[in-house]
Amino acid sequence: MSLLELRDVAVTYRSAAGDVPAVRGVSLSLAEGEALGVAGESGSGKSTLAMSLLRLLPRDALVSGEILLDGEDVLTMSWGRLRAVRWASASLIFQGAQHALNPVRRIGDQIAEPLRVHGMATGAAARRRTAELLEQVGLPAWRAGGYPHELSGGQRQRVMIAMALACSPRLIVADEPTTALDVMIQAQVLSLIRSLVAEHGIGLIMISHDLSVLAATCDRLAVMYAGRVVESGPSREVFRDARHPYGRALAEAFPTVGDPASRLAPRGLGGDPPDPAHLPTGCSFHPRCPVALVSCASEPVELWPASRTEEGRIESAEVSHTAACVHVRVHQEAR
Ligand code: ADP
Ligand code: MG
Repeated sequence: MSLLELRDVAVTYRSAAGDVPAVRGVSLSLAEGEALGVAGESGSGKSTLAMSLLRLLPRDALVSGEILLDGEDVLTMSWGRLRAVRWASASLIFQGAQHALNPVRRIGDQIAEPLRVHGMATGAAARRRTAELLEQVGLPAWRAGGYPHELSGGQRQRVMIAMALACSPRLIVADEPTTALDVMIQAQVLSLIRSLVAEHGIGLIMISHDLSVLAATCDRLAVMYAGRVVESGPSREVFRDARHPYGRALAEAFPTVGDPASRLAPRGLGGDPPDPAHLPTGCSFHPRCPVALVSCASEPVELWPASRTEEGRIESAEVSHTAACVHVRVHQEAR
């Protein structure tokens, strides 16, 4: 059984201006100890998907489909059960999380908080566990007595990782955990997260707009566009042989860290991502696509087998390389 399985997950924000379908029909699965990278431009639905996993979306968000964590559907859990699952089974390191630390509370007390809330450790045991967690994320134990303002951005992000690990979760979802950090620190923090999850057999979903960063740290990749997964598969294969034109654009993008323009539009790809409230018909990517056919404006696309390696072809459909592009379907049919 997968640690996490998403079946046809959709999230629609109901707003006064109309419905915003931010995530549409996403199916994914994650095994224990596996790292899945989710990439896509701003607005592609990555954070919405991440928050749906722990039901952290605002009240106006309508969620459908199934989100199975160890076979149990997060969407139908009671609030009591959900509270137990948050932190203890799955935890989220969210975008800009380092700013979420309480400035007037000691770091050690903040790391120990989830331990206390979930009745996992108090007093001396909690202090021991806190010291151990700080050490795991590469900070000296004496930092427990200090305050967030005494730390650099990268160190604060390490504290957030320690908090996420506190209750020994089985799944960690990291939503652009390093976007606010400089390049060197970014690489360190990502490899730290990756090695910790591997060491403890934790499943990881790592979200970023940077496909190259994900390819270096994750086993598998999923590329999102306009709320859908448009390509997924083993990291190396998706990165080196992206079959969806959007996946190719991201693989070639290498965005410059800190440059907002390169975050919004991968190099070589014109136009803007669509407004989810007004999605193009057919393939959502067709207005920006360099290889679009006339039929792409009207014919729906789905994820078709896309692997061009022997290895990829014999893998089961679940782990193999797929892409939602008509050129991939044509290619497969021609074989
Ligand atoms: P990403 O994390 O990939 O940048 P998001 O999940 O944040 O994307 O957003 C996906 C889409 O949903 C965007 O078009 C965004 O404007 C819209 N959106 C996000 N949050 C809300 C909300 N609370 N109400 C309405 N629309 C929202
Ligand atoms: Mg986001």
